Amino acid sequence: MKIVRFQKEDEIFWGETDGHVVIKLKGDPFLSIQRGNEDCPLSAVSLLPPVVPSKIILVGLNYIDHAKELGMLSPKEPIIFLKPTSSLLAHGKSIAYPDAAERLDYEAELAVVMARTGRNIPENDVGRFIYGYTCLNDVTARDIQKRDGQWTRAKSFDTFCPLGPWIETDFDPGDKMVTSRLNGDVRQSSSTKNFIFSIPEIVSFISRVMTLNPGDVISTGTPPGVGEMNVSDVIEVEVEGIGTLKNSVVSG
Ligand code: MG
Repeated sequence: MKIVRFQKEDEIFWGETDGHVVIKLKGDPFLSIQRGNEDCPLSAVSLLPPVVPSKIILVGLNYIDHAKELGMLSPKEPIIFLKPTSSLLAHGKSIAYPDAAERLDYEAELAVVMARTGRNIPENDVGRFIYGYTCLNDVTARDIQKRDGQWTRAKSFDTFCPLGPWIETDFDPGDKMVTSRLNGDVRQSSSTKNFIFSIPEIVSFISRVMTLNPGDVISTGTPPGVGEMNVSDVIEVEVEGIGTLKNSVVSG
């Protein structure tokens, strides 16, 4: 099932889509799926980020082939960091290139959406806590990341977390291609089978640090081939079996 959030006039709704038509849902789809009677074309609604997380947690280096590309050893534990919820951006909306940055990079990632509250989740129980999966672009001001020495500013500008277009609830993340395309040209393409840490390892690890809430987003790192975006570029993040998240870049 594909779950969307969208705005129509001044109201915000949850919906279910097949990629063409949206059926409005009643209530909160994290509690139960109740289909309403109204539907409309997906193209007629303004999509919002498909979830309202209390936090967005990301893993820094999680593909064996990306670590090799950087000449780095695989980390012994997941390197985690946060993006603020104010950085969320919907499918189809524009990434704002900040005046303060001189190099803006895309990072195509598979993101996990949590279903329920969890703390100290054992690896073998993680599946029960996952609601679904979506595409995430971990937009990064690379020059600022290097200059600051830690990542908060570089990862946190408004619009730096494109997410969507929907949450796919029927998805097996075991061996799926994660791809980015810049202006239609493939720039990143690798399988989740190249993960250094599996999704159960990542979710369990993070839940031993902080309580995870329904809707929280955990992003699983990026494949080799990260690179630069400029104003007027179009960047797509595709996860096989989920869909394609597409955004353009405008000057901030
Ligand atoms: Mg990343």
